[in-house]
Amino acid sequence: MSTHDGAILDDRAAADADRWRSRDLAVLWHPCTQMREHHLGTGPDALPLLPIARGEGAWLVAQDGRRYLDAVSSWWVNLHGHAEPRIAATIARQASTLEQVILAGCSHPPAVELAERLLAIAPREPAGNSGGRAPLAKVFYADNGSAGIEVALKMAFHWFRNRGDEPRRTKFVALQNGYHGETIGALSVGDIPLYRRIYAPLLMDAIFAPSPDAYEARDGQSAQACAEDAADALAHLLDEHAGEICALVLEPLVQCAGGMRMHHPAYLRRARELCDVHGIFLIADEIAVGFGRTGTMFACEQAGVQPDLLCLSKGLTGGFLPLAAVLATQAIYDGFLDASRERAFLHSHSYTGNPLACAAALASLDIFGQDNVLERNRASAARMAALAAPIRGLPHLADVRQAGMIVAFELCRDGDRRAPFDPALRIGLRAYRAALARGVLLRPLGDVLYWMPPYCIDDAQLAMLADATAAAIAEATACA
Ligand SMILES: *Cc1c(COP(=O)(O)O)cnc(C)c1O
Repeated sequence: MSTHDGAILDDRAAADADRWRSRDLAVLWHPCTQMREHHLGTGPDALPLLPIARGEGAWLVAQDGRRYLDAVSSWWVNLHGHAEPRIAATIARQASTLEQVILAGCSHPPAVELAERLLAIAPREPAGNSGGRAPLAKVFYADNGSAGIEVALKMAFHWFRNRGDEPRRTKFVALQNGYHGETIGALSVGDIPLYRRIYAPLLMDAIFAPSPDAYEARDGQSAQACAEDAADALAHLLDEHAGEICALVLEPLVQCAGGMRMHHPAYLRRARELCDVHGIFLIADEIAVGFGRTGTMFACEQAGVQPDLLCLSKGLTGGFLPLAAVLATQAIYDGFLDASRERAFLHSHSYTGNPLACAAALASLDIFGQDNVLERNRASAARMAALAAPIRGLPHLADVRQAGMIVAFELCRDGDRRAPFDPALRIGLRAYRAALARGVLLRPLGDVLYWMPPYCIDDAQLAMLADATAAAIAEATACA
């Protein structure tokens, strides 16, 4: 069936979609949205609201019958496709067995099994240089990515406090252009002005180290040299603030919300060494890049680095239910064992370790085995590289970069990275609308278009995605 072009839409379905749009706008306040753009209806600043009726593999099916390829995995959460039947069936079974139980004082099989499975696949440093680092050993659950980051930050701080360090270590080092979520603590270690600037007076002080982002490399400089420079700067900062810092928090390999900016794994190895030298924790935020997005199960594997705290969420449940997991070392866990309750980690969320979410996560992990997902993804990633190559030749392309199942296209005025488009031109929004008209949901980050599709995407869908991307870029930049 034709998916979009020339499809004769049923008038009733279109009217129905319109009704949903008005009912929505009467009552809903959407996330990360200037609502005025939805209310505008038409014009260069209008953002169309898409009522979605159902999902099916890589497709989203709208209320009016149109189908859209979900090129962004619904904000990077969906792994194996929408309404994946095995995950859906597992959740249904779990819902009629045990839907929720307080995890303080109680236990249940999905929470235990998931912890065992996550620890078994967690990144591990190859024995040798460090004499074999003790593996990640404990799992603390939260119910979304930001909450997971809060858990990791509080754990790191509290561990030093329990150890009795005086003066107190109260600071975190994070990377420029990093993103770790929207709650006050997570926002404090984030460095994206659009999300942070307004709330700056509310935030705790963090120390920002230069990003190893290869896009910022000097002319002719390699990605690795750029990473080494950033690591040198990190070394200086850590020296300067020695004794004040609890942890370094970073997104391994790809700063996703920061525009899918990518760096060389050498940075992670240096960062790991520097954290060891200073006796501080390395918190790896793999909330977006975990579960195969960069080609390996976890991004840290590509650097052979094991963090002290690993934050997981987004794809953890295959994109079905909110859940986060913070993996910690035995040494961190042991730092809280005491007769005093105050030395315990008295953090909780009502839905901590929800059985439905844990069951969904177990079903998602099963699919990695059943469908040979990582191996299949290697073929898909090669196909994505081949399809992205000709787009690199279009005008206005400053950079095309890839890490496994993530491909990003950075648009600039003359294809010169030092000459970005005037934000008032809303190039990203134009590209979004142009891609939608071609049946593809591509939601750019500023002027960066990217592909981060569900892993079930097939060759024909990838080809359609590439065609729509090229056309959307041409249409969006025609005004420039
Ligand atoms: C999305 C994201 C978060 C926050 O997760 P939420 O579930 O949206 O709170 C944190 N870190 C990274 C790297 C993310 O991409």
